[in-house]
Amino acid sequence: MKKALLPLLLLLVSLSIKAQQLPTSPNYQANDRFEQLGTVLPTPNTYRTASGAPGKEYWQQRADYDIKAELDDDNRRITGTETITFYNNSPDDLKYIWMQLDQNLFKKDGIAALSRTGTVNEKGMSTAQLAALNTGRGSSLDPKVEYGYNILSVKDKAGKALPHTINGTMMRIDLPVVLKPGMPYVFSVDWNYNITEYYGRSGYEFFAKDGNANYFIAHWFPRMAPYDDVNGWNHKQFLGQGEFALIFGNYKVAITVPADHVVAASGECQNYAQVLTATQKQRLKQAETSKTPVMIVTQAEAEKAEKRENKNPGKKTWIYKADNVRDFAFASSRKFIWDAMQSDVYKSGRKIWCMSVYPKEGNPLWEQYSTRAVAHTLKSYGARTFEYPYPVAISCHSVAGGGMEYPMISFNGGRPEEDGTYTEAVKYGMIGVIIHEVGHNFFPMIVNSDERQWAWMDEGLNTFCQYLAEKEWDYNFPTRRGEPNQITEYMSSDKSVLSPIMASAENVIGLGPNAYGKPATALNILRETVMGRELFDHAFKEYATRWRFKSPTPADFFRTMEDASGVDLDWFWKGWFYGTEPVDQDLVSVDWFSIDTQNPAIEKEIARKEDARKKMTMSKIQDAKTKGETVVAQDSTMADFYNRYDPFKVTDADKQKYEQYLSTLSESERQLIQENTNFYTLSVKNKGGVPMPVIVKMGFEDGTDSVAVFPAEIWRFNDAQINKVISTKKKVVQWTLDPYQQIADIDTENNSFPRIAQPTRFQIFKQQQQKKAPNPMQMQGAGAGKISTDPKN
Ligand SMILES: [Zn+2]
Repeated sequence: MKKALLPLLLLLVSLSIKAQQLPTSPNYQANDRFEQLGTVLPTPNTYRTASGAPGKEYWQQRADYDIKAELDDDNRRITGTETITFYNNSPDDLKYIWMQLDQNLFKKDGIAALSRTGTVNEKGMSTAQLAALNTGRGSSLDPKVEYGYNILSVKDKAGKALPHTINGTMMRIDLPVVLKPGMPYVFSVDWNYNITEYYGRSGYEFFAKDGNANYFIAHWFPRMAPYDDVNGWNHKQFLGQGEFALIFGNYKVAITVPADHVVAASGECQNYAQVLTATQKQRLKQAETSKTPVMIVTQAEAEKAEKRENKNPGKKTWIYKADNVRDFAFASSRKFIWDAMQSDVYKSGRKIWCMSVYPKEGNPLWEQYSTRAVAHTLKSYGARTFEYPYPVAISCHSVAGGGMEYPMISFNGGRPEEDGTYTEAVKYGMIGVIIHEVGHNFFPMIVNSDERQWAWMDEGLNTFCQYLAEKEWDYNFPTRRGEPNQITEYMSSDKSVLSPIMASAENVIGLGPNAYGKPATALNILRETVMGRELFDHAFKEYATRWRFKSPTPADFFRTMEDASGVDLDWFWKGWFYGTEPVDQDLVSVDWFSIDTQNPAIEKEIARKEDARKKMTMSKIQDAKTKGETVVAQDSTMADFYNRYDPFKVTDADKQKYEQYLSTLSESERQLIQENTNFYTLSVKNKGGVPMPVIVKMGFEDGTDSVAVFPAEIWRFNDAQINKVISTKKKVVQWTLDPYQQIADIDTENNSFPRIAQPTRFQIFKQQQQKKAPNPMQMQGAGAGKISTDPKN
């Protein structure tokens, strides 16, 4: 469309069309929307290049862990000892090192507790809610229990105590001698802590009916903080909302649990031979080649275990190995049902264990969907990034809603009613959350971004891939995030509650729409509307591949997407990632022009009609009755040449002049005149602020339609209002901007010309509706509601 228009416009000038205006508003808005990001991005260096790829001197730290831990089911407590081999791969001398003590989030005197705000709800509160408000801690914490780490010892390789200082959720260990570049340092930490009730990321879930608990254990051992070329030591406190910044390493973890428990963990179990029964081992063997999940522990067996017929089952130690992971988590319970299949999701034929553990409360949903959703996720994400490199992927059923991700393992909600029925929302919510949490293996478990600072780099990219994986699961999947029209409500919110996507995860109000929905939508729009699938998919894959097992920053993402696609997207990053303005295009007016053909047969007829229109007076109808009674009508001597002269009659002179005019035109110019093309000048206002492509649907008078797309650069001279000429042979009767809701326009009422009123629907009642009678059963349940940190996924 755009290409065709330019030569036409040149022609229009030579043909002296009626009042044709070129879009050359004299008041260009001074704006920098299309200037490059420039110094907003960090200066490239040998660690991170200007192309967005890791530089030739890129480095990252590494820590290997050897952990022995025991779960005390009676006291809900974990005791552990860990030996850490930290490799200083940086070019810097390190006098001290920092470790993360995430469990200290739950300490009474921590920043998280003291900085929590809230108010008493006068409509009523539960005692747990009130206690949470009072202490500043989530109601998943028992006020009588002390939480947070007891650090029992920090010792060097020789067993000598190392001086250490705890600062909230961080601990500094002072080294006896400076750790030189390239050198490893081996030390150990002994610790224990009381496990909280499940709070969104980890904890236990207690089942009063059978007296058992499921444990979901994460951020459970002191971990190395990253030291990198961007932040130095990354020791920003853990306040609960911002997630984790971690480094890769190899793990060996021995987990001792009651002997009747089933354990699932990050990594490959090294001693199934010791911890499984003969029957379970035989089923696992069968699952190695099965195309469908095989029950390793059946529901009947799990239900028998939860009866605890043997009060002293003893202990078992499950040993795991996980290489090149940034973290390690596990789940343990005697209530777990366990199914597995070793799936060949990739063309390479490499097999990956897809598994699920869940209590009977998760069925029938979990046995039907969970493991299959795991395999589907690896396949879908693998196609847009890289092959899932780990040997195992596990989905565990934690509490009812939300989910949480760790390497090779995730804790997911989605629970049917007690009678086994479930709503459509629960079903799709469960499949969606499994796709999302298993998908996190790609972002940030492998493409290892800093979650504490930039939630969008994992949540946004992951939610985008989740959206596509959901559509590949079921074309009618009711996706929650990713469609442009699903983010417009957030983007039309009051400015005081909006943060840019480029904001710290700990400070953002509405992390869901900010870090999940908006970036996922932005990527979707880039793919479908701005770049096109081919350019986008190549660049996105390039980013994932470049930063696989490395730690990218936002600039690395922005630069790679441009570097690999050849599309200048700085304006897009500015509008969508650095700004909070919404998109709102307003089709202010459409002016219609047609060419002056200079053909007297056509133009004189048009002039005749125009003349008649001008001479129309309001007394015309009344005057007509007395037309024959005028002086000129009654006395013929009063008429002369001008009473008979028809100025609109085509004369020979007119014809001659027209012939001569035609002879001056080229073939294509003559054709244009004959086609009687319509020219429309659309005036579009950028009311929202973010410049976006202008997509226009033309509804023609014959009932057909057509869509024209103009790139966002249409706003580069004037970001407030532009004129755009569109020519068509057919007459347009209805104009619509963004007809398929591709650009997240927050107000669609101003998208049509002529305006189409959108009715607000209301109901008419014969009489006032009666208030619904209260349901005593529901009322009883309502008081037991809990506050916890935002449900996280
Ligand atoms: Zn997530």
